[in-house]
Amino acid sequence: MKDVFFSLGSNIEPREKYLAAALSELNKNFKFISSSSLYSSSPVDDLAQSDFLNICCWYAVDLDDPFAILNIVKKIEDNIGRQKNPLRPKGPRTIDIDIILIENVNIKTPKLTVPHVSYLNRNFVALPLLELIKNVEKYSELKNKLLRVVSENSNQQVNIVGEPIHGFANKSFSENQE
Ligand code: ADP
Ligand code: MG
Repeated sequence: MKDVFFSLGSNIEPREKYLAAALSELNKNFKFISSSSLYSSSPVDDLAQSDFLNICCWYAVDLDDPFAILNIVKKIEDNIGRQKNPLRPKGPRTIDIDIILIENVNIKTPKLTVPHVSYLNRNFVALPLLELIKNVEKYSELKNKLLRVVSENSNQQVNIVGEPIHGFANKSFSENQE
């Protein structure tokens, strides 16, 4: 089994329900380890849209092919109603699931880059990820790196706005919407 860290974001209401639905779907495919508090962040790239709700989550995965993980993630995004607007590739989304790190994987292709190309520039990823690994001995180097980038990016407004999501396991999206 390998550790995989995902970053999840939503900026279309009900944002927390979309995040819970994504966790629930990820749980069906991978072994859940932990998920972070809820963080709020301002949009980057395409600025004319609502704030995001972000979390990071940690799973164990027994797939050797990182593209197999990406395919699962894309299916989950589709199931949760992610619509792609070609005119606004960085526009509003019900759910965005990015693969941040996969244990011992380093891959750089247009379809998949892991470690994620910009996770060290974005405190909405670095802060929740730090929360997950800060007391884990094998990630002490990652922790130091994250602490450094978090302080370098301290101009980014990223705040904790809620507790980790609980009770999402094995719920379908419609159940989550109730
Ligand atoms: P973004 O996450 O950059 O806002 P998208 O979610 O639309 O935009 O992703 C665009 C493409 O990025 C996806 O189709 C996917 O193939 C590619 N991609 C490359 N690396 C990753 C990664 N680590 N995690 C998720 N998608 C990735
Ligand atoms: Mg994405």
